[in-house]
Amino acid sequence: MHKIEENIKFVRDEIEKNSLRTEKDIRLVAVSKGQNYSAIKSAYDAGQKIFGENYLQEALEKKKFLENLDIEWHFIGPIQSNKCKLISENFSWVQTVDRIKIANKLNQYRALEIPLNICIQVNISDENTKSGISLNDVNQFAKVISNLKNLKLRGVMAIPSKVNQSQALISQYKSLRDLYEKLKISYSSVDTLSIGMSSDYLLAIENGANLVRIGTKIFGAR
Ligand SMILES: *Cc1c(COP(=O)(O)O)cnc(C)c1O
Repeated sequence: MHKIEENIKFVRDEIEKNSLRTEKDIRLVAVSKGQNYSAIKSAYDAGQKIFGENYLQEALEKKKFLENLDIEWHFIGPIQSNKCKLISENFSWVQTVDRIKIANKLNQYRALEIPLNICIQVNISDENTKSGISLNDVNQFAKVISNLKNLKLRGVMAIPSKVNQSQALISQYKSLRDLYEKLKISYSSVDTLSIGMSSDYLLAIENGANLVRIGTKIFGAR
């Protein structure tokens, strides 16, 4: 069996075991940044249909070779406002929205009839990382997005800070999960809690994640 196929199967099995326990449907996004289109094709042939990319130019290059495949593309990288048009035209989801200006532009340029699925990127660590809005600002931001007709608010996304203790990670997850549960009550479209990467996806699932973004565990080191 091809290595990528083997990895997909392994990750899926692990997720399956956990989702049985949590009785939830867990979505797996294969993060293909730094991988070529044939690696993506291998994963696709192994049944993987959702892929995440961080860099617009790189994603567009690869998409040219994968046009006929039924892939759901998620944008998961930092967003510059001059890239909003192409992002809104080429992706089904954008998981890293953390500025109103960006939300407005994605809405403005989304020409497809199906709305663009949006996750608000939240900064859940105390570090001064640049990406993500603070927990306190999410409600206000969610209200803005929910009023943009070409966007559909699906949930929240975060990249926890790297810590060695699982207890510290769990407290980061918890703040996001609480927020997610509240948003779900206010917005019927909200159904996505996106946390968990190669090194922490099982712990993230145990703590409420229903979408995980995995690169290294599927494709190998970048
Ligand atoms: C690169 C990346 C991932 C995947 O990371 P791995 O550790 O390789 O699984 C997930 N989410 C985001 C936002 C990323 O940039």
